[in-house]
Amino acid sequence: MQEVLNQLRELSNNLYWTWNNDFMAIMEEINGDFWKWSSKNPVKFFEAIDKQYLFDIIEKKNLRYRIHNLYRDYRKYITSKETYFEKKYYKTDKPEICYLSAEYGLSKSLKFYSGGLGTLSGDHLKSASDLGIPLVAVGLAYSHGYFRQIITDDLHQSELYEQSDFNSMPMKLVLDEEFRPVKISIDLPGRKLYAQIWQLNIGRIKLYMLDTFVDENTVDDKRITDILYGGDVEKRILQEILLGIGGMRVLEALGIEPKAFHINEGHSAFLTFERIKNKIVNDKVSFREAKDICYYSNIFTTHTPVPAGIDIFPRWMFEKYFGAYAAEELKVDFHTLFAEGNNLYGQSAGDGFNMAYLAINNSNFINGVSKLHGEISRKMWKLPETRTQIDSITNGVHTKTYLSWVSDKVYARNFGKDWIEVEDVWQKIAQLPDEELWILRNLNRKKLVEFVRGRIIDKEKLLHESEDKIAGAKKLLDENALTIGFARRFATYKRGTLILRDIERLHKLLDDKDRKIQLIFSGKAHPRDDGGKNYISEILKFASSNGFKKNIVFIDNYDMEVAKRLVSGCDIWLNNPRRPLEASGTSGMKTIANGGLNFSILDGWWVEGYAEDTGWKIQSLDNEEGYSDEQVNEFESKSLYETLENEIIPMFYDRNEAGLPVNWIKKMRGSISKLAPVFNTGRMVREYHEKFYSKVK
Ligand SMILES: *Cc1c(COP(=O)(O)O)cnc(C)c1O
Repeated sequence: MQEVLNQLRELSNNLYWTWNNDFMAIMEEINGDFWKWSSKNPVKFFEAIDKQYLFDIIEKKNLRYRIHNLYRDYRKYITSKETYFEKKYYKTDKPEICYLSAEYGLSKSLKFYSGGLGTLSGDHLKSASDLGIPLVAVGLAYSHGYFRQIITDDLHQSELYEQSDFNSMPMKLVLDEEFRPVKISIDLPGRKLYAQIWQLNIGRIKLYMLDTFVDENTVDDKRITDILYGGDVEKRILQEILLGIGGMRVLEALGIEPKAFHINEGHSAFLTFERIKNKIVNDKVSFREAKDICYYSNIFTTHTPVPAGIDIFPRWMFEKYFGAYAAEELKVDFHTLFAEGNNLYGQSAGDGFNMAYLAINNSNFINGVSKLHGEISRKMWKLPETRTQIDSITNGVHTKTYLSWVSDKVYARNFGKDWIEVEDVWQKIAQLPDEELWILRNLNRKKLVEFVRGRIIDKEKLLHESEDKIAGAKKLLDENALTIGFARRFATYKRGTLILRDIERLHKLLDDKDRKIQLIFSGKAHPRDDGGKNYISEILKFASSNGFKKNIVFIDNYDMEVAKRLVSGCDIWLNNPRRPLEASGTSGMKTIANGGLNFSILDGWWVEGYAEDTGWKIQSLDNEEGYSDEQVNEFESKSLYETLENEIIPMFYDRNEAGLPVNWIKKMRGSISKLAPVFNTGRMVREYHEKFYSKVK
């Protein structure tokens, strides 16, 4: 029995379990309520569970064999010599690429992310692990992370920041030989900033996260890593100094010497300074020479198509933190250093220091995250012809992370438990019989309906609502109705309320008893984004008015778990950003392998993904033509309604004698066979490797 417990503990401490449905199923079977109580954090789960109870359940439910198998699969995965990298390149134990990001979305209970940028970073690491890419990652360990969304009685979003207990999470403090925490330090005006380091294991990949909550620091400095994307500009620069400069020092402290550095969005671009500093010290070269050498091994991925989305620090603030650093460490005059983030081939950042300029000025390889975004970026930043131009590598998702248990089981039943390794598996899945694909869809939708009901019932019980109300929640949604999902951050450009623009028209659709549809929304607005918060209120008010509670719901506190449920359960994944503001978008990619279909504006990745036989598009008006917001919203919402009324709803309800929507299933086939093999991070990370990482000498 001790052996089983050891295996479970080892499994818990590697985030391999975050993309393993079997592991999660075993946790459910041991005790579903307890699993929920732990916020789906297995370390906390096994710490708190009574061991005798655990042993009894394992025996009673015959789980021992399944746990052994899971453990064996895990060991095989971790030690495999058959990875893409090792087969194509060579064998190495040393990390060669360092990846830096301000947020990582790895699992619901690790609250180090706010949205798509985070899940993309997390997925990047998971796929780097799958492929055996020798990569190490650096980030910040936010003690309170991103907020938990609470919906108040008057239908507004409020925010609650909850402290995480790192000691009960799948992460370990990095210790030296004397078991003392390894710490790095950075000189700040009048003081030193210290940080300890947490290690997370993501399959084969190690992620190191900096944490300023240590005794040596002042109260204010301890709080540098409390929350993600909160506080004022000064806190922001401190976080970015920690990530970029501190990140480099983590590698040094641990004896890691990567040859390439991947700056994922501008937040970590101060790294370029620290690399130059190291070169100056080690090779006795000038600032200019050091900069020219480091340039060739920096990679910068930009994620925003609008200048307003970029961090710009006031000159005085930059001077406060980098004045001494320029003179003493980099041996360069302040103006030269300031120009790194102020001047981009003649484009000026006004009086500020622009983190994207800094990254671009210091990276040979630059890319946008979809083809369209690549084009926009090339227009936004006109680089001289003498240098490498801005490329694009379209985002992806780590397929297994968002694949439901149902989808996993259906594929395993047809192609064996290692179905994802089968050659051309998506073509084969697309050739499954109509019945099988329809079962996949119906079961996924049913699970989602159960999940939504469960969430609402839990909340009502917590609020001691009446039995009537709780009984009502049990009837919420319909497991056979066409289910449309919209869930993502409520940034205003994503226009969460576009579908509410013509309420009359929407009522007609929602009222149709023969061709039922239902809408599920979810998403958080940034605490300071009043526009986004108003959108949420608007949806909540609409949902609670006119007895529409049954087929329109808003699920509070959107996170990776809610995302996985929604992308697998919804038939239609709706996305209607204001083009071209969605650099890529990834949530729509998560629905593909679960048999959901995309219905979106042709923006970001959908420009590449859309075809007649893969999903639907919403016609858009381009910003450049000088239309007003009103005109654009009017035109695009009309296209949205028309497509729903004339194409999507009729196709879903057009059934043959056997009750199957044959044309719908045909679209599922197109989507699965054409999109699933492309819009995943396996393809994406390979592309990063082939275009960039492997080019660095
Ligand atoms: C995938 C994901 C996102 C990104 O959604 P987009 O529609 O691409 O903006 C945001 N939040 C969570 C929790 C996700 O899983």
